[in-house]
Amino acid sequence: MATAPNSDDALLDQFLKNRGHDTDSLEWEASYNKKQCPECSALHQSSASKCSVCGWNPER
Ligand SMILES: [Zn+2]
Repeated sequence: MATAPNSDDALLDQFLKNRGHDTDSLEWEASYNKKQCPECSALHQSSASKCSVCGWNPER
């Protein structure tokens, strides 16, 4: 979807920008057959499409 992001995504984007991260170039990191969030290092099942801890996802 290329439409306007919801308010949560907008807030997260602003949060990430404030921290100086490039949100377009990050991908999941692999750890023990799970996905690891590059933002907060939380581990997720390989089927996860976004981080349930900080809300990060690799599609933005
Ligand atoms: Zn995270």
